[in-house]
Amino acid sequence: MTVPSAVSAARTILTRLHDVMASRNHAQAKLNTVVEVIGEGLDSEVCSIYLLREGMLELFATRGLAQEAVHVTRMAIGEGLVGTIAENTETLNLAEATAHPDFSYRPETGEDKFHSFAGVPIVRRERAVGVLCVQHVDPRRYEEVEIEALQTTAMVLSELISNAALVDEEEVAGLSPKLSGPQRLSGLTLVKGLAAGAAVFHQPRITIEHVMADDRDAELQRVYLAFDKMREQIDRMQAQAEFGVGGEHEEVLETYRMFAYDEGWSRRIIEAIDSGLTAEAAIERVQQRTRMRMRQIDDPLLADRMHDLEDLSNRLLRIVSGQMGTAASMGLRQDSILIARNLGPAELLEYDKRRLKGVVLEEGSLTAHVVIVARAMGIPVLGRVRGLRGVIRDGDPLLLDADKGDVVARPLPAVAEAFEARFAKSKERAAAYAALRDVEPFTRDGTRILVMMNAGLRDDMPNLALTGADGVGLFRTEFQFLVSATLPQRERQTRLYRDVMESAGDKPVVFRTVDIGGDKVLPYLRHNDGEHEENPAMGWRALRVALEREGLLKVQARALLEAAAGRTLNVMFPMVSEPWEFDAAKAVFESQLAYLRGLKKKLPEAIRYGAMLEVPALAEQLDILAPRLSFLSIGTNDLTQFLFAADRSNPKLAERYDWLSPAIMRFLRRVLAGVVGHEVDVTVCGEMGGRRLEALALMGIGIRRLSITPAAVGPIKELVRKVDLTDIGTAMNQWLVSPPPDLRAALTAWAQERDIDVD
Ligand code: PEP
Ligand code: MG
Repeated sequence: MTVPSAVSAARTILTRLHDVMASRNHAQAKLNTVVEVIGEGLDSEVCSIYLLREGMLELFATRGLAQEAVHVTRMAIGEGLVGTIAENTETLNLAEATAHPDFSYRPETGEDKFHSFAGVPIVRRERAVGVLCVQHVDPRRYEEVEIEALQTTAMVLSELISNAALVDEEEVAGLSPKLSGPQRLSGLTLVKGLAAGAAVFHQPRITIEHVMADDRDAELQRVYLAFDKMREQIDRMQAQAEFGVGGEHEEVLETYRMFAYDEGWSRRIIEAIDSGLTAEAAIERVQQRTRMRMRQIDDPLLADRMHDLEDLSNRLLRIVSGQMGTAASMGLRQDSILIARNLGPAELLEYDKRRLKGVVLEEGSLTAHVVIVARAMGIPVLGRVRGLRGVIRDGDPLLLDADKGDVVARPLPAVAEAFEARFAKSKERAAAYAALRDVEPFTRDGTRILVMMNAGLRDDMPNLALTGADGVGLFRTEFQFLVSATLPQRERQTRLYRDVMESAGDKPVVFRTVDIGGDKVLPYLRHNDGEHEENPAMGWRALRVALEREGLLKVQARALLEAAAGRTLNVMFPMVSEPWEFDAAKAVFESQLAYLRGLKKKLPEAIRYGAMLEVPALAEQLDILAPRLSFLSIGTNDLTQFLFAADRSNPKLAERYDWLSPAIMRFLRRVLAGVVGHEVDVTVCGEMGGRRLEALALMGIGIRRLSITPAAVGPIKELVRKVDLTDIGTAMNQWLVSPPPDLRAALTAWAQERDIDVD
């Protein structure tokens, strides 16, 4: 068949299929007509439909093969050409069927005289539920348009099968073609821990209900509108990229834009609608075609781009079908492990904490806020897992081992058992840590190390009693702003701060004023000038925002002061870069205090002001600031990104720089030296303090106060009790004078020699 005639044949097929689908015939009669329509349309001697029944692919209808074979010929998944197509959910196009290694001859069909063979899977919920194939006497490969006509027909059949309940949906759900076998994927541990549960995609795939369109113009209109909306979204995301909306990165957004405006892509979708498909089916159809082409190209870079196009195609599908919700909006049904390319912290917080057991990301980095939130929620996270979508499907059972850094999909029973055993052990360990709850962490040589926890929401507070932490060393007040749809009013803030202090009882809570910007996006708070920032982490964020939007800081100051009536208020300012910024922020509090005093309101008993040291410049002026401070909290997450000029949320840099580098350790030691002689408590509140090896090094340079993620309180307490400060102090001193090639390795060996567990 020539290409133009193949194109017109494909059109005719679709028009006729439309009539078949609209007819009131019985499902079997429809199948019988479909094979005739395809056979005639493609001028094929044979056209057959195999459908899944009781785990086997059964011949349901045929034109050209022996009719006696209908409902008799059955193939297992993976058996013969038909079984192979179903197993791999892949198309086969062969000039000589018998030459294929998987060919299996079925005498009852009388197929020996046919040479060429083309078959496509009929897919339902990402699983092959059948196969549609054609055969020819002449040995020839089919034209691309013919294969496309087959694929489109397969989509129509999938709808027919579902409407007529021709295959058992439960069987489909449990079906296991190639992707059903066990698969192990590895990644980067972002939050340690183990979890077992069912895979849930943050952005679920769209189920296409209708394939054949009734009104072509209406479908075109829908897809035009969807394209406009999608382009608008992408442009908006790019304009707001300083807040990393949805966690997407600049580079990804650029690719999105490229595809979103790609003429070829939209043209192909429009052509598919022209041929009679609904907008949804047309988008999916074009996507299938791209997938097929990409499979033939073995280039990892292209595979990445393919992934972007797949994302965008799904976005377009969501817009056109109106199925916009994430898995969070639909609610989690059971123990779930969330799968996403990346997430924003607010998106993660939308999930039901009791049902969400783990997160697997294709991107992600250790200090991205979504990871900090997950850590606080006690949810293990594995990041930088490539090719997730191709291997894991919605509902697949998963075993997530974020300790070892891998996830197993559809595990074999033996693997699941071994995992269970490890899980039980880790629960035992957790119980052992919990037993340390009331034990004060003294080092072997008798120094009390303060082990506090980080928090950000009311829900985090029960962890204080559960872990026995010494207080909240960092309360990230911006989390309340992140989870609200609108700017939290003063009364709401006051209530939260009061509740938090009350639940802390006698233990101190250090409130940090709002630290927004960077990767913490507030949709309702935009740039004054709406300008796009090239480097949001170094941009308009934290105290810079608060000092410019004085109203914001005033409201928060008033809320904190009122909430702390009769108590000590500990407040600190994020991202202080120069002493005057601290003074200016403190002045806002002092003027609010004076105002409240004027109103004869009950005031805090004392106010302790502190600064966060996150910007290296402040270290150079510490001697000036120190006399005005009650405490200093070192935010190593930001500090290290600025020291190394390495964006903390850039996944490419996630493993590049080590907290245990002489540069960081020497710098921290200098900070400590900078406050000697002043009454300033120094705490480390970045994520590194919650890791045992890092905590050991920090104690070695003189840090005595840590504020860490709640899950790390037990493990760090246990560590503290094994450490001799003089011993580690001497070792660190020597290493920092003349650094070993690998400080991490040296520390690990040191700890092992002393039987100190640092994993
Ligand atoms: C830090 O930067 O180390 C810190 C504790 O603050 P955050 O992670 O919220 O930026
Ligand atoms: Mg910070």
